[in-house]
Amino acid sequence: MDINKFEKFAKELIDWIVEYYNNIENFPVKSKVKPREIFNKIPDTPPQNSEPFEKIFSDFQQIIIPGITHWQSPKFFAYFPANTSFPSILAELLTSAIAAQCMKWETSPAATELEEKVLYWLRDMIGLPDYFLGVIQDTASTSTLVSILSARESFTNYRINESGFENNKFRVYCSTETHSSIEKAVKISGIGKSNLVKIPVDDKYSMIPTLLKESMEEDLAKGYIPLCIIATLGTTGSTAIDPLEEIGKIAKEFNLWLHIDAAFLGSALILPEYKWILKGIEYADSFVFNPHKWLFTNFDCSAYFVKDVSALVRTFEIIPEYLKTKSDKITNNYCDWGIQLGRRFRALKLWFVIRSYGVNGLKEKLRYHISLAKKFVSLLSQSEGFEILAPVIANLICFRYKPKNISDEEKLNSINELLLHKINNTGKIYLSHTKLKGKFTLRMVIGQTYVSEKHIEEAYNIILENSKQIN
Ligand SMILES: *Cc1c(COP(=O)(O)O)cnc(C)c1O
Repeated sequence: MDINKFEKFAKELIDWIVEYYNNIENFPVKSKVKPREIFNKIPDTPPQNSEPFEKIFSDFQQIIIPGITHWQSPKFFAYFPANTSFPSILAELLTSAIAAQCMKWETSPAATELEEKVLYWLRDMIGLPDYFLGVIQDTASTSTLVSILSARESFTNYRINESGFENNKFRVYCSTETHSSIEKAVKISGIGKSNLVKIPVDDKYSMIPTLLKESMEEDLAKGYIPLCIIATLGTTGSTAIDPLEEIGKIAKEFNLWLHIDAAFLGSALILPEYKWILKGIEYADSFVFNPHKWLFTNFDCSAYFVKDVSALVRTFEIIPEYLKTKSDKITNNYCDWGIQLGRRFRALKLWFVIRSYGVNGLKEKLRYHISLAKKFVSLLSQSEGFEILAPVIANLICFRYKPKNISDEEKLNSINELLLHKINNTGKIYLSHTKLKGKFTLRMVIGQTYVSEKHIEEAYNIILENSKQIN
């Protein structure tokens, strides 16, 4: 493909993208293909000779699009969103064109310096103390792994990096509601899943601090070494908030690393009415939230903040001769702030998004989503037979269908599972589920960039209609 053909096709693709967004509501939100259906449509061997772009693009439309679940559809209410927005798409277009590899300052000074600046912006927008410094990681899973490794190394004076584990006695604490990425990080860090202690939650699904303290005291008495606590602000199941201040005091008393996982709900911290969640932030050592979830910035973009950058850099830095540069002492080299050496230019999309919306525009968007969640709650509570299963903190509603004549929990679980499949099979909306205290729970998250009131009313009607067919 020469540059003239590129110009022609690039313009056609922009037209296709505009069409796609204009028509996105007409696609089944959740892809309806069967396992292996796409795989079997792709030839077993690569083409030996050049194929025309027209053919490649036509196959993209015929083969690939049917196998896509449309995360950007305003009828997507499953999981947590992985939002994009038009300014973010434009930035990604430029990023892929420039295709710089931004491992060090010298390999693209603008990428490093823009990343530093927009992370100051983000830090101040969400109200973290000004001693926190930030870096973009690919995901919250990676950020949490980075945090646990930093805790392990700073606690052992960087000994395990040097000579490996001899006799692991470390314990990590989180609640029973924390995200599976914490377990993954504890496994990978060599601490081991059996040393992850899951503390019970209260009736709002928040960690119970007195049980945390008791558990640590028992561990100390048995010769274990408490290392790190992970507090979640906005759990994946129900956006529950762990009581940061009380947990923070315990972390301080026992001299532990406190990591905060606010992957989804962190975006809401730009709103003054959510600042209460951060009470006790002064006890935290690290903090993560994902602009790629609810801040309209393409996946991947996870903002990781640390109190002590030197602990982070000492854990991850390696300086082989071929990577030494003259500017090493005076600029940030983000390859030393995490796991990967090579890095994409991810700050650009954040910069485009924040400037294009403005902080006020972002606030307005989030408040709109939260108001739609309130609307959905009021629709649900007007009709009989639905039960809300967890406090609605922002824009996630946990609920189930509970007709008057059924009280058996197993039966309720099976009819709600059936209801979820029926709803999703319509292709008209997409919800996901969790289990809260053993109850099969439908999760409706209202955070898609271009969702509006009409979509909420439609979603409610689809849920209602399908529930009526179930008894
Ligand atoms: C989504 C989520 C994660 C994982 O996010 P990734 O960026 O996909 O790794 C971690 N913790 C919480 C609370 C989440 O909601």
